[in-house]
Amino acid sequence: MQGMVRTESHADGDWLVRTVRGNDSGKAYRCPGCQQEVPASAPHVVAWPADGLGGLAERRHWHTPCWRARHRRTPRGSWK
Ligand SMILES: [Zn+2]
Repeated sequence: MQGMVRTESHADGDWLVRTVRGNDSGKAYRCPGCQQEVPASAPHVVAWPADGLGGLAERRHWHTPCWRARHRRTPRGSWK
């Protein structure tokens, strides 16, 4: 298994977050934070709601900085 899964609490709920080191699968994903491509070969973050209701379809691949800045991009996000 690649990377460790941790739980993060955010304004919009709890998320399971996995840090991926990058692999040679050749895939690419769309980062929800900046709408740019996330190559699977680059280290990045995979996040999905901790309630698991959405299943695998809810998994999103983020650039690590975009995930960290996510609460700043969400209009309804709150500053603690
Ligand atoms: Zn991004």
